[in-house]
Amino acid sequence: MNEFDVFKMFFKTPKDYIEEHRKSRAERRKEKEDPEQYRVEEVKDEEVFDSDQVAKCDDIDSFICCICLLLTKKPYICYSKCSAIICKSCLDGYKDKRCPMCRSEEGFYFSDLHASVQDESISLKCRYKDCEEEIKMSDFTEHLKKCPNAPYRCSSFPACKAIIKRKEVHSHKNECEYMKVRCKYFHSHILLRKDLENHEENVCEFRTMMCIGCKDSFYKGTLPEHIKTCEEYPLECPNCKKKVKRSEFKDHPDTCQKAIIKCIAFEKCQHLSTRDKIEDHQRKCEHVYDYQLSLIHELQETINAKNMVIQELSDELKQKNDKGIFGFFG
Ligand SMILES: [Zn+2]
Ligand SMILES: [Zn+2]
Ligand SMILES: [Zn+2]
Ligand SMILES: [Zn+2]
Ligand SMILES: [Zn+2]
Ligand SMILES: [Zn+2]
Ligand SMILES: [Zn+2]
Ligand SMILES: [Zn+2]
Repeated sequence: MNEFDVFKMFFKTPKDYIEEHRKSRAERRKEKEDPEQYRVEEVKDEEVFDSDQVAKCDDIDSFICCICLLLTKKPYICYSKCSAIICKSCLDGYKDKRCPMCRSEEGFYFSDLHASVQDESISLKCRYKDCEEEIKMSDFTEHLKKCPNAPYRCSSFPACKAIIKRKEVHSHKNECEYMKVRCKYFHSHILLRKDLENHEENVCEFRTMMCIGCKDSFYKGTLPEHIKTCEEYPLECPNCKKKVKRSEFKDHPDTCQKAIIKCIAFEKCQHLSTRDKIEDHQRKCEHVYDYQLSLIHELQETINAKNMVIQELSDELKQKNDKGIFGFFG
């Protein structure tokens, strides 16, 4: 035995502490997850059964108590073998010594044989909704404890008022609105399931959102900043109300059908209209003809002026040619 062994005799080692802690945590969790605490009704050991609880029995009358007319797990039988059966509680309350059927004074005895015969002959219906099982009297209590259709409360009771079947305890957890769940963006955010959608959609500072322009994902905090500069982000044209990419927005007024533009004869007619209507106007506008005429006139004048310049230049050239090639140097 070394020093450490002596130490261990009197003190707990760190390993012991860890072991203990682990155990108690597992126990605590087990306690928390034990669904039995959420059972709606306590299961009591039943001694007697009403005849309409019977699923199958060929000869029910020979098994029921001659006083209360109930079936009993512990049948007492008349000693004189008159085949009268009496249940324990009726027997306890029965003051007359004589058998109520045959009036024999010998009394009653508990019959194991009879108990096993009736257990084989009788099957009972489970009392829980949707349970189709047929159960022996001796197994009845056990069945109620384990019946998959027994009613349970949700472990989030009283917040969750749902009454569920034993077999649904786990599946209900996956849909219960009052279960605690974790935010998908940040696992330390723990919320009730009913609040999760709103949290993830609108609240969580770690949620990602998609830019509707470039379709990239951004954290909530950075998206507004991105939107200000995203080239693909759609901006609404105030005139035609169409969405136009930011990169095309600047040039859009040059083609926008609802942009306000002037009639080509604006100086005279002062008419403004949207681009899609301007042609219509110009076709009918009385000033457009004058305007076009003045345009032609202006053009004609320019042409005339140019022609004159050409004429002068060609005259000059001709003069110089007539003087001969040496004329250039003379
Ligand atoms: Zn009875
Ligand atoms: Zn009797
Ligand atoms: Zn059942
Ligand atoms: Zn629930
Ligand atoms: Zn979150
Ligand atoms: Zn973008
Ligand atoms: Zn537009
Ligand atoms: Zn006009």
